[in-house]
Amino acid sequence: MKCELVFVGTELLLGDILNTNAQYLSKRLAALGFDVLFQCVVGDNPERLKAVLEEGLERSDIIITTGGLGPTKDDLTKEVCAEVFSLPLEMHEESLCRIHDYFKEKNISMPKSNEKQALMPKGSVVFKNTNGTAPGCAMEKDGKRIIILPGPPREMCEMFENCVLPYLSRFSDHVIISHSVRTFGIGESMMAERAGDLLDMQNPTVAPYAKSGEALLRVTAKATTAQEAEKLIAPVVEEIKNRLGSFVYGVDCSGPEENIVALLKEKGLTLATAESCTGGLIGKRITDISGASSVFGCGIISYSNEVKKSVLGVKEELLEKYGAVSEAVAASMALGAVKCSGADLAVSVTGIAGPNSDGTDKPVGLVYIAVTDGSSFRIKKLLTGHSEKSCREYNRTVSASTALNEVRLFILESENNRKDINAFINSF
Ligand code: AMP
Ligand code: MG
Repeated sequence: MKCELVFVGTELLLGDILNTNAQYLSKRLAALGFDVLFQCVVGDNPERLKAVLEEGLERSDIIITTGGLGPTKDDLTKEVCAEVFSLPLEMHEESLCRIHDYFKEKNISMPKSNEKQALMPKGSVVFKNTNGTAPGCAMEKDGKRIIILPGPPREMCEMFENCVLPYLSRFSDHVIISHSVRTFGIGESMMAERAGDLLDMQNPTVAPYAKSGEALLRVTAKATTAQEAEKLIAPVVEEIKNRLGSFVYGVDCSGPEENIVALLKEKGLTLATAESCTGGLIGKRITDISGASSVFGCGIISYSNEVKKSVLGVKEELLEKYGAVSEAVAASMALGAVKCSGADLAVSVTGIAGPNSDGTDKPVGLVYIAVTDGSSFRIKKLLTGHSEKSCREYNRTVSASTALNEVRLFILESENNRKDINAFINSF
């Protein structure tokens, strides 16, 4: 099935909003085995929309549109699509009732203009909107189909999953399933060395994606059933895990924070943070995960030296002699955070996010991360190598991800390898 996507909205053309519907639909359609051949963005202009649809129908079997289903005059997607298929619009009573109910539930009177949202092309399969007022639909003529969906991503995604997927599955004779093996800390060259031959496989395919210090390997199989696809994928995922060892932190999880929250829960541990250059980002990312409260109770943003001293007990001499961005201070911050929070573990981060330096000869992108349980510790010196004008966000993101990864490695490493944190701090 050849498929193409048309995104309607002048705001997309002006760059006012990001076309997130494009990524979502392309990804989901690929997983169903549909070939998405074209994506097009067109403004709220009926003539140009009509031209785009007519051109698309020449080369594709299905066009899916999003946007332009609102009650206002500039929302004309449905009208134009019906015109292209020469279908009259008819009042769809069920949709009209739903729209009335939608306003009743919210205790607001329904503007007359919303009634037009219940007019549907004759003979179309109507998709109900559980998050808004505009229904979507699928219309067909001479074996060609147009599916129209609302623009707001929340409404579009739900309608796609609940209504469009069941509608489309009858046109697909195979499924495509992917699993993502997520790794942290392995460079591209080492990845290529260890997993290189896997990247040449045909079914499943293995594709690497790198992003802010992380790399994931997406294993994708195509088969007639989901079960068969899973069977193809499973041994390859295992092989990757064996080859990459502790660089792999999870499969199909959303990021290091999801992994760390799960790991802390599994081990019955709590974590505190002492953050300088990441300014609370680690705490933010941990608490992005629902249920984080059982493992995370305290985050200290010790941005100034004053707070490093008064709250975390970092010694003035260490700050003076080695500077805030140093191993000694990172270790002291982590120890202070464990003591004042009562958590089982603490992770600290102190570094130069840039683009300006800290007035010393230390490079932008230098970061120290320490993890401790109050007696033993782990310390990491990170050099991101990024000091360009826009480096700040990258350096902070990578520092936070590395800190989360260090917590994972601390938990997983053998206790016999660990050294005493007090002796370490006293050695300075
Ligand atoms: P519309 O259905 O055209 O009235 O769109 C309503 C709203 O949905 C827009 O103002 C955007 O905020 C959002 N929206 C529309 N199209 C897209 C898209 N392709 N990607 C992300 N958001 C969109
Ligand atoms: Mg619009």
